[in-house]
Amino acid sequence: MVDQHLRRRNIRDERVLEAMAAIPRELFMPEDVRSGAYDDEPAPIGHGQTISQPYMTALMAQALRLRGTETVLEVGTGAGYHAAVLAMLASRVVTIELVPELADAARRNLETAGLSDRVLVVTGDGSIGYPSGAPYDAISVAAAAPRAPDCLLEQLRDGGRLVIPVGSLEEQDLLVITRSGGKTKTKTAARCRFVPLRGGEGWKLS
Ligand code: SAH
Repeated sequence: MVDQHLRRRNIRDERVLEAMAAIPRELFMPEDVRSGAYDDEPAPIGHGQTISQPYMTALMAQALRLRGTETVLEVGTGAGYHAAVLAMLASRVVTIELVPELADAARRNLETAGLSDRVLVVTGDGSIGYPSGAPYDAISVAAAAPRAPDCLLEQLRDGGRLVIPVGSLEEQDLLVITRSGGKTKTKTAARCRFVPLRGGEGWKLS
């Protein structure tokens, strides 16, 4: 997976490549889809949600430029794979998941992977961030938002980065937003397709 799908494309951060080589992705997948664990594809994890495509996980992690000392907020834990990758790259990860059953599964998966001491899994609406853990050096949002929520930018440390898919329900731009003083600078890293961000700052879906 690392050589074929990541290294050959534009994933150059050796720490990201090492983290993804080290973490067994199948651990975070239901048994019936584990045979495809190292394909470059998203996969269903139950409750209508997915584990992201490995390339997208790598691209998002690389965009945060983590060096090992950071506190990171992830919104949309799913089964916890991306949180595990972030935990290998930073010092501490707070990850928040709206679906209680998925948050429970993620806690178990991270425990099995031996990473639970570095990751706090919170059950709740992450579209408004998690103010009690702020400020964060980096924020990674794993669900498609109609816009980048101001409250997430407010929870970012000066110089920190937010990576977030923004667009319609069908397709989004993966934005990398850097906060600098009161200003922000935005770059687009890729076109992408994520499951919707729900909650207060997300999509109102019935
Ligand atoms: N990070 C995962 C991808 C999870 S998919 C990975 O490792 O691949 C996106 C997740 O975001 C889903 O589990 C969904 O339930 C969750 N989600 C959607 N809206 C949310 C919200 N407002 N707060 C927290 N989680 C949310």
